[in-house]
Amino acid sequence: MLGAIAGDVIGSVYEGALPGPEDFPLFHASCFPTDDSVLTIAVAEAILDGEPYLTAIRRWALRHPDAGYGVMFHRWMVGDVTGPYNSYGNGSAMRVSPAAWIHDTLEATLAEAQRTSEVTHDHPEGIRGAQAVAGRSSSRAPAAAARACAGWSRTGSATTRRCRSSRCGATRSSTRPARARCRRR
Ligand SMILES: [Mg+2]
Repeated sequence: MLGAIAGDVIGSVYEGALPGPEDFPLFHASCFPTDDSVLTIAVAEAILDGEPYLTAIRRWALRHPDAGYGVMFHRWMVGDVTGPYNSYGNGSAMRVSPAAWIHDTLEATLAEAQRTSEVTHDHPEGIRGAQAVAGRSSSRAPAAAARACAGWSRTGSATTRRCRSSRCGATRSSTRPARARCRRR
């Protein structure tokens, strides 16, 4: 999810442009979050609050109406289109990443990805696009994100601890431990 948002912000100033040099600044003053970030957060909030994807996505889109939506999505979000509109664009894939964090199995992740997609992108290719991204994310970081870490090791810093789980890499501040979550368990 963080990668999706970071990539959206980094790529915001290059969208629609010809390929540039491989060596370019990732973040600079002109970068900004686009519809990809807005709708990724909408999906995450729907998951966390147990809210239908349709209402969370529409609410977040209306909260940020100029984030760069496609024409069909814009018509859907303002209510001109009722129900999904058979899209097979990339909009279902760009917002799906939170779905990969809440399930331990690929099967459950793919089912969740379908639910995030079919409120707008109900074409089989739209659903497959979301499942491809979520499935890939799931195989690399199974949902263990929601579980508390078993233990933390000291680092060189007086206030930073590092997760003991193999390859997790998570760190936490000793002053805000409740915010830390293991990424591997
Ligand atoms: Mg965008």
